[in-house]
Amino acid sequence: MSEDHTGGCLCKAVRYRITGDPNLTVACYCKQCQRASGTAFSTSAWFSEAQVEITRGGLKPYRYASDESGRWIEIKFCEICGTTILATIETAPGEVGISVGTLDHPNWLEIKEHIWTTSAHRSIAIPPDAVAFDRGPS
Ligand SMILES: [Zn+2]
Ligand SMILES: [Zn+2]
Repeated sequence: MSEDHTGGCLCKAVRYRITGDPNLTVACYCKQCQRASGTAFSTSAWFSEAQVEITRGGLKPYRYASDESGRWIEIKFCEICGTTILATIETAPGEVGISVGTLDHPNWLEIKEHIWTTSAHRSIAIPPDAVAFDRGPS
């Protein structure tokens, strides 16, 4: 049974709808995610492109290279308020990573993997029972 979920940016210009469940949910503590988000980590829920529909608003892309692999990562944010809505990565074609904090009801999903814990801010506690990786997932 598929269920729809909605989300959007801070200024409400961008809205999206997701159908079905994510393939993967990740919290990433790498330095690039810290810098891009301006906070201690990023959280993303990964769906197939066909599951995600931008229903309103304009997204601006920013592409950069991974410090670790050199492969590209592209984030897309609201062109008005700057909220990062989603990401795509070179290594997962056809997949879209939605920023979990932009979901209207983010607690419908669980963050299943914690990656790059080696660079996590020292004040951040990784849940002891979490699936965690020092660096990227194996
Ligand atoms: Zn906005
Ligand atoms: Zn990261």
